[in-house]
Parts: sequence; C-alpha cells; structure tokens
Amino acid sequence: MFMTVLWLALFFLVGAAVGSFINVIADRLPADKSIISPPSHCSECQYKIPARDNIPIFSYLWLGGHCRKCGTTIPIRLLWVELGTAALFAFLYWHYGLSWEMALVTFYCCVFIVLLLIDLEHNILPNKIVYPGMVVALVMAGLGSIFGFEPGYTADSGFRLWIVDTAVGGSIGFVLLLLPAILYQGGMGWGDVKLAALIGLVTGFPLVLLAMFLAIVSGGLIAGILLLLKLKSRKDAIPFGPFLSLAAVITLFWGNDFLNWLIPF
Ligand SMILES: [Zn+2]
Repeated sequence: MFMTVLWLALFFLVGAAVGSFINVIADRLPADKSIISPPSHCSECQYKIPARDNIPIFSYLWLGGHCRKCGTTIPIRLLWVELGTAALFAFLYWHYGLSWEMALVTFYCCVFIVLLLIDLEHNILPNKIVYPGMVVALVMAGLGSIFGFEPGYTADSGFRLWIVDTAVGGSIGFVLLLLPAILYQGGMGWGDVKLAALIGLVTGFPLVLLAMFLAIVSGGLIAGILLLLKLKSRKDAIPFGPFLSLAAVITLFWGNDFLNWLIPF
C-alpha cells in the first residue's frame, strides 16, 4: 500500500516534468524553433527563467501566473497541461503497472497530447510528431510479431500477427477519413487523415473503428453545441485533431474491455 502511494507520487512528479516539456514542444514546434535552446524565457520580456521559477505546477501557483520580472500573464494552459500530464502518468502506473506496455502507452499519450494542443492552438498537425509515432507503432508491431509479444490493449482481430492488425488498422484509419477530407475541404484536412492513419497503427484493427466512431460522435456533438450556443459560426473551422487524439487515448485505455463487454465471445 505504502509503496503503491510512493510510486503513484513518483509518476505524478515525472508526469508534471514531462507536461512541462510538452508545453515547450507545443509552444516552439509550430514556430519552427528549437525545443532545446534557448532555455526557458518569458515570451514578453525575454527574462531567462531561473530554476526556482521553472518548477512544474508549483512555480505557476507560486508566481500567481505572472512573470516575476515584467508581470505579464503566463498562459493558464501551462498549468493545465502540467497537472493533466501528472495525473495521467499516475493513472498510467495504476492502470498498467510497471511494464513495457505502460512505457509504450505513455509514449503514445504524450504524442497525442502534443497533437491535441498544437491542433487546438494552431490548426495544424505537424509531421514531425505524426511520423515518428507511426515509425514507433510499426517497429513495435514488427518486433512483437517476430519475437511473439503483444500488448494487452490490442483487441482480438482473428489475424495471427500484431503487425497485420497494425497495418490493417492504419489503412482503415487512412481510408475512413480520406473521403470526408476530399469531400468537405476546409473542415477536415490532410493532417487529420494522417493522424487517423497513426491512430489505426497504434490501436490496430478492430479498435481503430471504435476510435474513429468516438472521434466522429464527440466531434459532431461538440461542434453542434458550439454552433447552437453561437460560440462558433459555420465559417469557423473547428479542429478535428483534438477529438481524434482524445478518442485514441480512451480507446487505448478501455477499448479492448469495451469490445469484450459488447461481444462476449
Ligand atoms: Zn516577463
């Protein structure tokens, strides 16, 4: 019990630090800036942020969300992402335990969080994030098929090999969003098609169908509510990437259990 709490706390702290790094990526990658240098600085007055003001979660609260030097407001997104990633890492430990599967799902979660943030703020889904995710999914499924291991989150497809689930899943994701992207230009873009392919590679067949279903239903629902409440007009493009990313993460966590419950044989 005590050890469990200790591990949960440890993963919470690691998650907060990773969340801090995710914030840096989400800020700098769309602007084509290096994510390593220069070190953290205030975007307003360029003040180089010392270590004591760069502690995830705590520094934001301690500084009251303002730059120590010039007092400009620090975006609240920084705090939410640090808190959210911290909670997510603790959950990942609790859900999967210490395992290679946990490490893999953790990596995918980070990829999807970065994509969600960048699409939400910039309406783009950078290849620099999508392609490495695809490579990891293909390499892992390839190795798993050769050496005979497969993670618990994949659902039984009837195919023997993990790499077949992966390839079929990726193709389905790609094809499913290709048509709407061609038909409704502006609403859905080429980035969404590539992200759907990535999600198919990550979740595999048949879970990709569940992930796409969740994304389309939740996206449609939220878009409908935003239009009804007149928070968005028909001309506004509501990015679809965040819905795809969230659906992917939820499918990784619970998709297999859900399918087993739905089809109990
Ligand atoms: Zn400043």
